[in-house]
Amino acid sequence: MSGIVEVTLPDIGDFEQVDIIEILVAVGDEIEAEDSIITLESDKATMDIPSPYAGVVKELHVEVGDKISMGGKILKLELSQGDSVDDRPSPTKAPVSEAVKGSADKLADVVVLGAGPGGYTAAFRAADLGKKVILIERYDDLGGVCLNVGCIPSKALLHAADVVNEAAEMAEMGITFGKPKIDLDKLRTGKDKVVKRLTGGLKQLAKQRKVELVHGIARFESPNRIAVKSSSGSLSIGFNDAIIACGSSPVQIPGFPNDDPRLIDSTGALALADIPKRMLVVGGGIIGLEMATVYSTLGSAIDVVELQDGLIPGCDPDLVRPLQKRIAKRYRQIMLGTKVIDIQALKSGLKVTFEGKQAPDKPQTYDRVLVSVGRTPNGKKINAEAAGVAVDDAGFIPVDEHMRTNVPNIYAIGDVVGQPMLAHKATHEAKVAAEVIAGLPASFDPLSVPSVAYTDPEVAWMGLTETEAKSQGVAYEKGAFPWAASGRALGIGRVEGLTKLLFDPDTKRILGAGIVGPNAGELIGETVLALEMGADAEDIGLTIHPHPTLNETICFAAEMAEGTITDLLLPKKRK
Ligand SMILES: Cc1cc2nc3c(=O)[nH]c(=O)nc-3n(C[C@H](O)[C@H](O)[C@H](O)COP(=O)(O)OP(=O)(O)OC[C@H]3O[C@@H](n4cnc5c(N)ncnc54)[C@H](O)[C@@H]3O)c2cc1C
Repeated sequence: MSGIVEVTLPDIGDFEQVDIIEILVAVGDEIEAEDSIITLESDKATMDIPSPYAGVVKELHVEVGDKISMGGKILKLELSQGDSVDDRPSPTKAPVSEAVKGSADKLADVVVLGAGPGGYTAAFRAADLGKKVILIERYDDLGGVCLNVGCIPSKALLHAADVVNEAAEMAEMGITFGKPKIDLDKLRTGKDKVVKRLTGGLKQLAKQRKVELVHGIARFESPNRIAVKSSSGSLSIGFNDAIIACGSSPVQIPGFPNDDPRLIDSTGALALADIPKRMLVVGGGIIGLEMATVYSTLGSAIDVVELQDGLIPGCDPDLVRPLQKRIAKRYRQIMLGTKVIDIQALKSGLKVTFEGKQAPDKPQTYDRVLVSVGRTPNGKKINAEAAGVAVDDAGFIPVDEHMRTNVPNIYAIGDVVGQPMLAHKATHEAKVAAEVIAGLPASFDPLSVPSVAYTDPEVAWMGLTETEAKSQGVAYEKGAFPWAASGRALGIGRVEGLTKLLFDPDTKRILGAGIVGPNAGELIGETVLALEMGADAEDIGLTIHPHPTLNETICFAAEMAEGTITDLLLPKKRK
């Protein structure tokens, strides 16, 4: 069937009178369904509006500079043979196709695969925007890696470690406590309670939003259908749009005795089975060092081995230095530029052979070895090819700034779309995907995704690092404030900290920030806001920070760059 139709602006959310900044078609053009026809710009974003039908453009009702609202006429289209208004509804509101309806056990506007921080956020946001949502998760508990075996349990244990360490350090102020008695069962239960409270809360939130939970292992069958297998059977779900949020898994090193229970990954470490006498942490990145902090405080003798020449690769060395100095005194050894070449599972322990710059002369034996050498995306485990979704060799799913994969109705978010693999990146991407599906003009274009190592001291950074600036030849000015001059840092007995800010030499706008010291993870947020708001050194320096606080060090670092600092001598060039 063919005919003439008016193409109007679909529901793009809560927007009225949006500017048309580009017309992408001309009278006489032959276009396909989904081809972009105009570009709109609101105060929040720009978005292309696709044609819902294929056909030939007969008349244009708008021009650049016009404003348009939902229902406003854009163009007149002569439909191609075989296309009709009835079977081609607006792409932003497409119902599940009849073919899918006929054969699926359940139907949804939006199916979300995986209930980690990416998945549950996407599901909840899509439901709040009026979509019928099914959230699929293989485990009984929601929350994914972050809540169950990642961010949350690790931070609960790190808090316990902080308390032990702070109590011990009070000796310098004349207050001593006895040696802490550690009830491992109670510590584990306490950590599990925190996790349960959060995962239970998610189930409630899903119920309140009428998000349907389906438990089982999901695999795509087509671009509109997914199968879920569980111990109680299989079912298929038809959908208009899908959001893949299947996360990542710990990397295993082939050739290691991976089945030996003494060789653990981060999940094994968080299970807190025992306090090993000697423990090797393979990988000096964030996760390995956080776990080392916990086990060292609980009493394990820790060795760390890292292939690179520095800990926390990617972080500026001056931020890592105070951490390394502190842990060098607490751990047995930190072996940099060194790798593990063999692990033998013996009755007496795991016998490890090293090679490299700081390798010990002979193999060492450990009660446990924690392998924390990174995480691998789960993109190859969901039968994505059946939906036509491209997955790269590493298992990542490429997406555009709208979180859309190469298949227009399938989106992907979180660890499975790329680095950095962090929960706060996943949740922000999740909202973008859900909003784009609901027709809102959203895109994922942050200026920075901050990173934090919740070690002792914490290390946090965002935006441009000094290392990147140097290697990319980016000009910058630096304001650095040593915590030794902070009254608050002195008061808590932690003067090793450093706050540094990088600024554009011309505009003086902030480019990046790095903080090392207790609570650096809490402090870095202000600098991310400054970056997103385009703040310059003067804005930060003139913002009155409460005294005495650690966040004052951000203000002081800006004053160092400005040359207005009075709490220290002026940097030489500013005198
Ligand atoms: C020890 C540790 C500490 C961490 N600490 C932090 C931190 O402090 N801050 C931070 O930002 N990040 C931290 N992370 C990283 C963070 O946990 C991840 O970035 C985050 O969980 C990614 O979220 P996601 O939604 O992409 O995937 P995930 O959390 O991995 O969730 C994916 C979900 O999908 C489910 N799934 C996968 N495949 C299927 C399938 N076929 N069928 C059904 N269900 C499926 C999984 O069961 C899982 O629940 C930490 C990670 C670890 C391991």
